[in-house]
Amino acid sequence: MSKGRLYIVSGPSGSGKDTILKEVFQKCPEIFFSISSISRPMRPGEVEGEKYHFISKDEFLKLIDDDMLLEYNQFCGNYYGSPKQPVLDALNCGRDALLEVDVNGAAQVRKVMPEAVSIFIMPPSYAELHRRLSGRGTETEEVIGARMKTALQEIGRACEYDYIVVNDVLSEAVDDLIGIIRSQRFKTERQINIINEVLKNA
Ligand code: ADP
Ligand code: 5GP
Repeated sequence: MSKGRLYIVSGPSGSGKDTILKEVFQKCPEIFFSISSISRPMRPGEVEGEKYHFISKDEFLKLIDDDMLLEYNQFCGNYYGSPKQPVLDALNCGRDALLEVDVNGAAQVRKVMPEAVSIFIMPPSYAELHRRLSGRGTETEEVIGARMKTALQEIGRACEYDYIVVNDVLSEAVDDLIGIIRSQRFKTERQINIINEVLKNA
Protein backbone atom coordinates (compact mmCIF):
# COMPACT_ATOMS: atom_id res chain seq x y z
CA MET A 1 0.00 0.00 0.00
CA SER A 2 1.37 3.42 -0.92
CA LYS A 3 1.49 6.14 1.74
CA GLY A 4 -1.05 8.94 1.75
CA ARG A 5 -0.17 12.39 0.47
CA LEU A 6 0.11 15.39 2.77
CA TYR A 7 -1.59 18.67 1.75
CA ILE A 8 -0.80 22.00 3.37
CA VAL A 9 -3.40 24.75 3.02
CA SER A 10 -2.60 28.34 4.03
CA GLY A 11 -3.94 31.78 3.29
CA PRO A 12 -4.55 35.02 5.14
CA SER A 13 -7.16 35.11 7.87
CA GLY A 14 -10.51 35.84 6.17
CA SER A 15 -9.45 34.52 2.74
CA GLY A 16 -12.03 31.74 3.12
CA LYS A 17 -9.99 28.66 4.10
CA ASP A 18 -12.57 27.31 6.56
CA THR A 19 -15.47 27.96 4.22
CA ILE A 20 -13.71 26.16 1.36
CA LEU A 21 -12.44 23.29 3.50
CA LYS A 22 -15.88 22.59 4.99
CA GLU A 23 -17.16 21.88 1.47
CA VAL A 24 -14.04 19.95 0.47
CA PHE A 25 -14.41 17.61 3.47
CA GLN A 26 -18.10 17.11 2.74
CA LYS A 27 -17.23 16.04 -0.80
CA CYS A 28 -14.04 14.14 0.14
CA PRO A 29 -14.60 12.63 3.61
CA GLU A 30 -11.75 10.16 2.97
CA ILE A 31 -9.21 12.94 3.62
CA PHE A 32 -7.91 13.14 7.19
CA PHE A 33 -8.15 16.66 8.64
CA SER A 34 -5.50 17.51 11.22
CA ILE A 35 -7.11 19.12 14.28
CA SER A 36 -4.71 21.77 15.57
CA SER A 37 -4.02 22.49 19.22
CA ILE A 38 -4.24 26.21 19.90
CA SER A 39 -4.01 28.61 22.83
CA ARG A 40 -6.40 31.21 21.33
CA PRO A 41 -9.67 31.68 23.24
CA MET A 42 -12.68 29.97 21.66
CA ARG A 43 -14.83 32.16 19.39
CA PRO A 44 -18.63 32.06 19.67
CA GLY A 45 -19.83 29.13 17.55
CA GLU A 46 -16.56 27.18 17.71
CA VAL A 47 -16.77 23.64 19.06
CA GLU A 48 -13.94 21.91 20.97
CA GLY A 49 -12.42 19.13 18.86
CA GLU A 50 -14.10 20.14 15.58
CA LYS A 51 -11.34 22.24 14.01
CA TYR A 52 -9.23 22.95 17.08
CA HIS A 53 -8.34 21.59 20.50
CA PHE A 54 -8.41 24.62 22.77
CA ILE A 55 -5.64 24.34 25.37
CA SER A 56 -3.80 26.68 27.74
CA LYS A 57 -0.45 28.24 26.90
CA ASP A 58 1.24 25.99 29.51
CA GLU A 59 -0.30 22.87 27.96
CA PHE A 60 0.92 24.07 24.56
CA LEU A 61 4.47 24.64 25.83
CA LYS A 62 4.45 21.07 27.21
CA LEU A 63 3.50 19.74 23.75
CA ILE A 64 6.56 21.55 22.35
CA ASP A 65 8.82 20.18 25.12
CA ASP A 66 7.54 16.63 24.55
CA ASP A 67 8.16 16.93 20.77
CA MET A 68 4.51 16.13 20.03
CA LEU A 69 4.08 18.70 17.25
CA LEU A 70 4.84 18.44 13.53
CA GLU A 71 5.04 22.23 13.41
CA TYR A 72 3.89 25.19 15.46
CA ASN A 73 3.85 28.95 15.36
CA GLN A 74 2.71 32.01 17.23
CA PHE A 75 0.06 33.92 15.28
CA CYS A 76 -1.18 37.32 16.51
CA GLY A 77 -0.12 36.44 20.07
CA ASN A 78 -1.48 32.87 20.31
CA TYR A 79 0.12 29.47 19.79
CA TYR A 80 -1.08 27.16 17.01
CA GLY A 81 0.35 23.68 16.27
CA SER A 82 -0.33 20.40 14.46
CA PRO A 83 -0.10 17.24 16.58
CA LYS A 84 2.42 14.95 14.87
CA GLN A 85 1.27 11.38 15.52
CA PRO A 86 -2.29 11.50 14.10
CA VAL A 87 -0.96 12.88 10.80
CA LEU A 88 1.79 10.24 10.54
CA ASP A 89 -0.72 7.48 11.39
CA ALA A 90 -3.12 8.62 8.65
CA LEU A 91 -0.35 8.85 6.03
CA ASN A 92 1.06 5.44 6.99
CA CYS A 93 -2.42 3.92 6.54
CA GLY A 94 -2.47 5.25 2.97
CA ARG A 95 -4.87 8.09 3.80
CA ASP A 96 -4.39 11.60 2.39
CA ALA A 97 -4.10 14.19 5.17
CA LEU A 98 -4.59 17.95 5.19
CA LEU A 99 -3.14 20.60 7.48
CA GLU A 100 -4.44 24.15 7.63
CA VAL A 101 -1.49 26.16 8.91
CA ASP A 102 0.02 29.62 8.54
CA VAL A 103 3.00 30.35 6.25
CA ASN A 104 5.61 29.71 8.97
CA GLY A 105 4.04 26.37 9.87
CA ALA A 106 3.96 25.45 6.18
CA ALA A 107 7.68 26.18 5.83
CA GLN A 108 8.45 23.94 8.84
CA VAL A 109 6.43 21.06 7.37
CA ARG A 110 8.12 21.38 3.95
CA LYS A 111 11.51 20.97 5.66
CA VAL A 112 10.61 17.60 7.19
CA MET A 113 8.22 16.45 4.45
CA PRO A 114 9.37 17.99 1.16
CA GLU A 115 6.94 15.76 -0.75
CA ALA A 116 3.94 17.59 0.80
CA VAL A 117 1.77 19.51 -1.67
CA SER A 118 1.07 23.09 -0.60
CA ILE A 119 -1.81 25.32 -1.64
CA PHE A 120 -2.27 29.02 -0.90
CA ILE A 121 -5.81 30.41 -0.75
CA MET A 122 -5.69 33.94 -2.15
CA PRO A 123 -8.43 36.57 -1.68
CA PRO A 124 -9.46 38.32 -4.93
CA SER A 125 -8.22 41.64 -3.48
CA TYR A 126 -6.96 43.23 -0.26
CA ALA A 127 -10.16 45.28 0.03
CA GLU A 128 -12.31 42.13 -0.28
CA LEU A 129 -10.18 40.43 2.38
CA HIS A 130 -10.93 43.30 4.77
CA ARG A 131 -14.64 43.13 3.91
CA ARG A 132 -14.73 39.38 4.63
CA LEU A 133 -12.76 39.63 7.86
CA SER A 134 -14.99 42.46 9.15
CA GLY A 135 -18.15 40.80 7.82
CA ARG A 136 -17.37 37.57 9.72
CA GLY A 137 -17.90 39.57 12.90
CA THR A 138 -15.67 37.36 15.07
CA GLU A 139 -12.81 39.78 15.78
CA THR A 140 -12.43 43.24 17.28
CA GLU A 141 -11.21 46.12 15.06
CA GLU A 142 -7.82 45.86 16.76
CA VAL A 143 -7.47 42.14 15.97
CA ILE A 144 -8.68 42.75 12.40
CA GLY A 145 -5.95 45.40 12.01
CA ALA A 146 -3.27 42.96 13.22
CA ARG A 147 -4.58 40.22 10.91
CA MET A 148 -4.65 42.56 7.88
CA LYS A 149 -1.02 43.48 8.58
CA THR A 150 -0.03 39.82 8.89
CA ALA A 151 -1.97 39.13 5.66
CA LEU A 152 0.41 41.35 3.68
CA GLN A 153 3.42 39.35 4.87
CA GLU A 154 1.63 36.07 4.12
CA ILE A 155 0.60 37.10 0.60
CA GLY A 156 4.22 38.13 0.00
CA ARG A 157 5.19 34.48 0.65
CA ALA A 158 2.52 32.89 -1.58
CA CYS A 159 5.21 32.03 -4.14
CA GLU A 160 6.58 29.41 -1.70
CA TYR A 161 3.48 27.31 -2.48
CA ASP A 162 2.98 24.71 -5.21
CA TYR A 163 -0.47 26.07 -6.11
CA ILE A 164 -2.45 29.27 -5.63
CA VAL A 165 -6.25 29.09 -5.58
CA VAL A 166 -8.10 32.42 -5.79
CA ASN A 167 -11.25 32.38 -3.67
CA ASP A 168 -13.49 34.69 -5.65
CA VAL A 169 -16.47 32.50 -6.52
CA LEU A 170 -16.66 29.98 -3.68
CA SER A 171 -17.86 26.97 -5.71
CA GLU A 172 -14.98 27.45 -8.18
CA ALA A 173 -12.40 27.64 -5.41
CA VAL A 174 -13.79 24.41 -3.90
CA ASP A 175 -13.62 22.65 -7.28
CA ASP A 176 -10.09 23.97 -7.86
CA LEU A 177 -8.82 22.64 -4.54
CA ILE A 178 -10.47 19.25 -5.05
CA GLY A 179 -9.03 19.15 -8.58
CA ILE A 180 -5.51 19.68 -7.23
CA ILE A 181 -5.95 16.94 -4.60
CA ARG A 182 -7.48 14.44 -7.03
CA SER A 183 -4.83 15.05 -9.70
CA GLN A 184 -2.06 13.98 -7.28
CA ARG A 185 -3.72 10.57 -6.98
CA PHE A 186 -3.00 9.84 -10.65
CA LYS A 187 0.74 10.42 -10.28
CA THR A 188 2.66 7.40 -11.51
CA GLU A 189 4.45 6.97 -8.18
CA ARG A 190 1.04 6.32 -6.58
CA GLN A 191 -0.08 3.88 -9.29
CA ILE A 192 2.72 1.32 -8.93
CA ASN A 193 0.27 -1.19 -7.41
CA ILE A 194 -1.98 -1.20 -10.47
CA ILE A 195 1.00 -1.64 -12.81
CA ASN A 196 2.17 -4.66 -10.78
CA GLU A 197 -1.37 -6.05 -10.49
CA VAL A 198 -2.02 -5.96 -14.24
CA LEU A 199 1.38 -7.48 -15.04
CA LYS A 200 0.97 -10.19 -12.39
CA ASN A 201 -2.32 -11.36 -13.85
CA ALA A 202 -1.24 -11.19 -17.51
P1 ADP B 1 -10.52 31.92 6.99
O1 ADP B 1 -10.84 30.50 7.44
O2 ADP B 1 -9.54 31.94 5.87
O3 ADP B 1 -10.13 32.82 8.11
P2 ADP B 1 -13.42 32.12 6.53
O4 ADP B 1 -13.69 30.82 5.86
O5 ADP B 1 -13.81 32.23 7.98
O6 ADP B 1 -11.87 32.53 6.37
O7 ADP B 1 -14.12 33.25 5.66
C1 ADP B 1 -14.13 34.62 6.09
C2 ADP B 1 -15.48 35.23 5.73
O8 ADP B 1 -15.57 35.34 4.31
C3 ADP B 1 -16.67 34.40 6.18
O9 ADP B 1 -17.68 35.27 6.66
C4 ADP B 1 -17.12 33.67 4.92
O10 ADP B 1 -18.50 33.39 4.93
C5 ADP B 1 -16.75 34.68 3.82
N1 ADP B 1 -16.39 34.05 2.53
C6 ADP B 1 -15.59 32.96 2.32
N2 ADP B 1 -15.46 32.69 1.00
C7 ADP B 1 -16.18 33.64 0.35
C8 ADP B 1 -16.43 33.91 -1.05
N3 ADP B 1 -15.92 33.16 -2.03
N4 ADP B 1 -17.22 34.97 -1.35
C9 ADP B 1 -17.74 35.76 -0.36
N5 ADP B 1 -17.54 35.55 0.98
C10 ADP B 1 -16.77 34.51 1.33
P1 5GP C 1 -7.68 31.53 13.31
O1 5GP C 1 -7.36 32.16 14.64
O2 5GP C 1 -8.27 32.52 12.35
O3 5GP C 1 -8.50 30.27 13.46
O4 5GP C 1 -6.30 31.08 12.63
C1 5GP C 1 -5.24 32.00 12.50
C2 5GP C 1 -4.14 31.44 11.63
O5 5GP C 1 -3.57 30.28 12.24
C3 5GP C 1 -4.59 31.00 10.23
O6 5GP C 1 -3.63 31.50 9.31
C4 5GP C 1 -4.52 29.49 10.28
O7 5GP C 1 -4.19 28.93 9.03
C5 5GP C 1 -3.37 29.30 11.24
N1 5GP C 1 -3.36 27.97 11.88
C6 5GP C 1 -4.41 27.19 12.24
N2 5GP C 1 -3.98 26.03 12.77
C7 5GP C 1 -2.63 26.08 12.75
C8 5GP C 1 -1.59 25.18 13.15
O8 5GP C 1 -1.81 24.08 13.62
N3 5GP C 1 -0.31 25.60 12.96
C9 5GP C 1 0.01 26.81 12.43
N4 5GP C 1 1.31 27.09 12.26
N5 5GP C 1 -0.93 27.68 12.03
C10 5GP C 1 -2.23 27.33 12.19
